[in-house]
Amino acid sequence: MCKTCEQGGCATSNSDKPDPTIGFARDANTIGDAALAAVFWWAMAIDTDAARRAAFVPGAGSAPFAIERADGAYLITPDGRRILDAAGGAIVVNIGHGRREVAEVAARALEQLTYVVPTFATEAKTRLVERLTERWLPRGLTRASFTSGGSESVEAAIRLARLHHVSAGRPARWKVIGRELSYHGITLAALAVGGHAPRRKDYEPLLIAFPKAPAHYCLECSLGRHSDGCRERAADRLEEVILREGPDSVAAFIAEPVVGSAAGALVPPDGYWPRVAEICRKYGVLLIADEVMCGFGRTGEKFAVDHWGVVPDIMVAGKGLAGGYAPIGGVYATDDVVAPIAERGEDLMFYTFTAHPAACAVADKVLEIMEREDLVARAKAMGDVLSKRLSRLANHPNVAEVRGLGLMQAVEIVRDRDSLERFPGEERITRRIVAAGLGKGVFFYPAGSSPAQDVIMLGPPFIITEDEIEQLVMVLEESIDAAVSRGSAPAQSK
Ligand code: PLP
Repeated sequence: MCKTCEQGGCATSNSDKPDPTIGFARDANTIGDAALAAVFWWAMAIDTDAARRAAFVPGAGSAPFAIERADGAYLITPDGRRILDAAGGAIVVNIGHGRREVAEVAARALEQLTYVVPTFATEAKTRLVERLTERWLPRGLTRASFTSGGSESVEAAIRLARLHHVSAGRPARWKVIGRELSYHGITLAALAVGGHAPRRKDYEPLLIAFPKAPAHYCLECSLGRHSDGCRERAADRLEEVILREGPDSVAAFIAEPVVGSAAGALVPPDGYWPRVAEICRKYGVLLIADEVMCGFGRTGEKFAVDHWGVVPDIMVAGKGLAGGYAPIGGVYATDDVVAPIAERGEDLMFYTFTAHPAACAVADKVLEIMEREDLVARAKAMGDVLSKRLSRLANHPNVAEVRGLGLMQAVEIVRDRDSLERFPGEERITRRIVAAGLGKGVFFYPAGSSPAQDVIMLGPPFIITEDEIEQLVMVLEESIDAAVSRGSAPAQSK
């Protein structure tokens, strides 16, 4: 008898271990205007013509920045210049660049098995699912399915939530409540549940009007900045939205436990996630945590929800899963979410590259390295160092806030820290800072969307040293000063 479905004759009925994949598809800011960077002496030395010709949308005046290889915490240009990767790419790289043992695993995996339909079992997929469910995922998340990245994972999570309710006889539940100031990916449903205005703007007619709950953006909160009891009240806004929409029409609520590129390392007040989980439970709404950026140790715990002891019904996490060594993301769920789907004999349709064998093998190796080198603890320790060093920017006249958790930190830039007056968009202050940083040999991640429009994010590999942290903070300060001194003066001088 299968312990998972409590029926005989299914794929796991001969095994003692439940198959975590049953009923679950049966498978276990760009830099953009890099032309700004080209004003710097060293960027001029790089021949980017070939890259420009290969760009999907050429002619936008951008000169792609050429990187030939990477090593540890550094990106290396074709002419040998080393750039400290203070962003881990797009907050992806956790174990550092250029680990030979990972490359060897990838080579072996490709020799062994090119590709099979995702419904087949492979050794790599099984090992990865076991590692995740036994050692990584919050207890209770027993099911795993894989994708090629974050947006696909979010789409799959939305489909999973919908399929759960339909299978359980609740077809009226279809709305997925998102939050303002959020980013869940660039595919259409992911954009629709997200609240990233600049990335949505040209596609609005194509986006389903999913309801949005307010974000916990303390700088501009109608409840006042860090006011007493604001954590409960911020979460209670979700309840208001559920009641307004009608609970029987709501399938799920999706949010980033620590908000990434839309707002820049926005950390919720302590009671927020437990209260949100309580509200979702009360109305039968599935809680989806998007840990694509903040998961896999980035915030100093395995997953950001672990800071608050919350187990979501569904979780998506991608970037850090393979630390940039393979394009792979994942969707994880509880037995309760999957059970009605399995009982109905349905599957969640897979993507062609779901659970690609080499990607699974690489992810498994990356997680093994994280365990062996205790890198989640290191992310916490180095995160403390980073946040301490960054605190010297807290009184900078153009810094509204320094925030973050672990090695996911951000600095929000404004024209005036007291009035929170923003720089006009056309001044592209974030990009100027990134360009200035590149000129000084450090790569920062540009982030932000209105109202948190200018944010520099820091998400270096977990192997970063204290000296490198010191260097990146120094360069960040100089880069802000350089960019701001070229920007316009405040509307009213104080
Ligand atoms: N969700 C979050 C929180 C993200 O930060 C991102 C990407 O930055 C995504 C989803 C989309 O992931 P991808 O770009 O891999 O599709």
